Amino acid sequence: MLRFTRRVFVDLAIWMMGLGLLVGLIFPFFALAMGLPGADVLAPVFFLACVAAGLAVGGVNIVLARRVIGRRLHTLADKMGAVESELREMARTGDMSRCTPEHCMVNVDSDDELGDVARAFNQLVEALSHSHRAQDAVRSFVEVLASRLELDALADRAMRELLLHTGSAAGAIILTADGEHRLIASHGIREAARLEASAHVRLALKTGESQLVSVPDDVAVEGVLTEFRPREVLVAPVTYKSVPLAAIVLAGALPYPGGMRAQLDLFLRGLALALNNALSHDRLQRLAALDALTGVYNRRFGLGRLQEEFSRAVRAQTPIGVLMFDVDHFKSINDTYGHVVGDRVLARVADRARGVLREGDVLMRYGGEEFLAVLPAASLDNAVTLAERLRRTIEETAVSEGEQSIRVTVSIGVGAFPGLDVSAPDELVARVDAALYRSKSSGRNRVTRA
Ligand code: GH3
Ligand code: MG
Ligand code: MG
Repeated sequence: MLRFTRRVFVDLAIWMMGLGLLVGLIFPFFALAMGLPGADVLAPVFFLACVAAGLAVGGVNIVLARRVIGRRLHTLADKMGAVESELREMARTGDMSRCTPEHCMVNVDSDDELGDVARAFNQLVEALSHSHRAQDAVRSFVEVLASRLELDALADRAMRELLLHTGSAAGAIILTADGEHRLIASHGIREAARLEASAHVRLALKTGESQLVSVPDDVAVEGVLTEFRPREVLVAPVTYKSVPLAAIVLAGALPYPGGMRAQLDLFLRGLALALNNALSHDRLQRLAALDALTGVYNRRFGLGRLQEEFSRAVRAQTPIGVLMFDVDHFKSINDTYGHVVGDRVLARVADRARGVLREGDVLMRYGGEEFLAVLPAASLDNAVTLAERLRRTIEETAVSEGEQSIRVTVSIGVGAFPGLDVSAPDELVARVDAALYRSKSSGRNRVTRA
């Protein structure tokens, strides 16, 4: 359509007035053709009247168009302007909750192009607020996870957040390190530890690709994987700088919506960063706390734990047992088989000792071939029984070296608080050390009470 100006309503006015003028000019001839007397219809007065009437109709049309369409457009523009400033404000504050339908949507009250404009605008607002919500969810997810350095706490929290944000009913996180897979969090999955060996998990970790496994209706998985019948199971790797750290498994009772996987990708990037931090932290803590040869606590860290356990025992008025053991004639092992074999024997002794101790006991390498075990809640009798079991276990252990089988024994000193009159952990240690010395001097391979 021919444009005269840059204003649509002015163009419309020109068209309408032009049309009015044209109709006014043509009308007398039309009247003549209809048989009206030429003297009347071709008179200048009649001409002028027709033109005036045509222009008047044009003018009224313009007013009507401005009133009917112009007002609508005006309202729409006003609303859009208001929503725009609202959106700017919300982007600044990060709070999208104010964008309710009443607040941000325009009324769709016609089935025409204007209605289409309003509808399209509403969809735009909806898409914007959806993408903002998604961004917000990712940001809070990353914030929540970034502050957690303890691996187990992180895994638990990440599991909960992932279920919440993806609308999954069940899920698991499987950590991978040195070719081993270990379940670190799960929710709603029966026998979740079996996922450690799952082919889907292994494939996701190997290829770095996620897989969406649809579970058709005719496949009954109830009771095998989850406590409900999932429609879709998503297995996705969590990689940091191309290194797979973990795999997540999510199971939904309903098929996942289209945009979910893209959003999950963002979540997983955040999780990868947090997981990597936690793993580094874990590694550093291990390095700082563990003895490299035997894998038990080193002396510095172990004595710290003893201090904690001793204070706890005093507070809770529960007993605490301590035993110190030293490998007998260890120098001759080194002299006979060499240091490397000596190292292996030491590591084996520590390993067997760990096997004898309970879950909450603390084992540390106190010196070269000397170890200290802290036994929370153990009375002197409990500690002596344990020491005797340890002595026997070591005695029965053989470390093979070629054709040879190396056996060692340990001498042990045992004490317990409050049985002994001590008020600090180092006094307790000094007493069991003295008892160990008596075990040595009275023939070795024996347990002596402090
Ligand atoms: P005893 O029955 O009196 O304890 O005799 P022993 O030979 O075990 O005692 P001694 O203290 O004379 O010797 C301890 C030896 O342990 C000396 C040292 O070379 C060895 N040793 C200490 N730490 C390590 C280690 O990390 N690796 C190896 N292979 N040997 C170690
Ligand atoms: Mg020794
Ligand atoms: Mg020694």
